[in-house]
Amino acid sequence: MKLIDGKAVSAKVLEECRGEVQALKDQGISPGLAVVLVGEDPASQVYVGSKVRTCEDLGIYSRKIVLSVDTTEDELLEVVRELNADSTINGILVQSPLPSQIDEAAIVRAIDPAKDVDGFHPENVAKLTLEDPTGFVACTPAGCMRLLAEYDIETAGKEVVVVGRSMIVGKPMALLLVAKGADATVTIAHSRTKDLAAVCRRADIIIAAVGRPEMVTKEFVKPGAVVIDVGVNRVDDASKKRGYRLTGDVTFDEVAELTEAITPVPGGVGPMTIAMLMKNTLQAAQQQCS
Ligand code: NAP
Repeated sequence: MKLIDGKAVSAKVLEECRGEVQALKDQGISPGLAVVLVGEDPASQVYVGSKVRTCEDLGIYSRKIVLSVDTTEDELLEVVRELNADSTINGILVQSPLPSQIDEAAIVRAIDPAKDVDGFHPENVAKLTLEDPTGFVACTPAGCMRLLAEYDIETAGKEVVVVGRSMIVGKPMALLLVAKGADATVTIAHSRTKDLAAVCRRADIIIAAVGRPEMVTKEFVKPGAVVIDVGVNRVDDASKKRGYRLTGDVTFDEVAELTEAITPVPGGVGPMTIAMLMKNTLQAAQQQCS
C-alpha cells in the first residue's frame, strides 16, 4: 500500500508556483488574488487565512475582504464588480458557504470568468466540458488529478467511481477523468445510487466526495484499488483538546490495507486545493497580461 502524500505534492506544486511568480515579475506582472469572506464561520476563517498566507509566502499580492454576516446580495455584488474592474486583482474567490440571504449562484455568475480562479462560473464549467485549457478547473478535483499523476496512477481505460455529484468536486472530477488524455470510464454515484458498495467494488479507482464520515468501508473496495478520499468531516472526540477530530469519507484503517494506494485525511487531498488555487491565480495573471 502506498500512502499518497498530499503535503509533499502540494509543496512541489507551490515551488513551481514560486518560479512562475518570479517569471511573471520579471515581465513586470504582479499577480494578485482577492479573497472575500462574508460572516465569521470558523472553518471559512481558517481556509481564508491559509489562502492569504500561502499568497504571501509565494509573493502573490493578496487582498482579504471581510464583510459582516448581514451583508446583502447587492452589497456583495458591488464588491465583486469593483474587484472585476480592479487591474491589480487577477483572481477572485468568494468563500463558501455564504449567509442564507445571498444566492451563491448569482455571486458566482457575477465574477468575471477570466478572474474566476475557483472555476465555478458557467463559462469555466463549459470550458472544462469542452476541454478548453484556457478555462479554470475547480481546485479540489484538479488537485486529485495531480496526485494521481504524481504517483503514476494510470487512469486510461480504468473503471473510476466518483461518489458525489457536487459542482465543486464530483462533477468536475468526473469530467477531468473522462477527458481525452485521462481516458477513464467513469461512473458518478450519489445518494440515490442503488447498492453503492457493489458499484464501488467495480472500481479500479474510487474518488469519495460525499461528506459522510467513514462511509466507504472495506465492503466498497476491490483489492488493489486506488482510493482518493476528498471528504473532510469533523467528528466529536473528547480525547482531543479541541473536542473533535478530522476524518475522511473512507474508513482508512480497514480500507488502506486492501488498496494499492490511498490518500490520508488530513494530509491527502486537502493541501492540494490551496496549491491548485495558486496555480489558477497565476494562470489568470498570465492570461490577462498576454
Ligand atoms: P456536497 O455538495 O454536500 O455533495 C455531496 C455529494 O455526496 C452529493 O452529490 C450527495 O448526493 C452525495 N451523497 C450524500 N450522501 C450519500 C450517500 N449516502 N451515498 C452516496 N452519495 C451520497 O459536498 P461537496 O462540496 O462535494 O464535498 C464533499 C466532501 O468533500 C465534504 O466532506 C467536503 O468537506 C469535502 N471537500 C474537501 C475539499 C478539500 O479541499 N479537501 C474541498 C471541497 C470539499 P445527492 O446529490 O444525491 O444529494
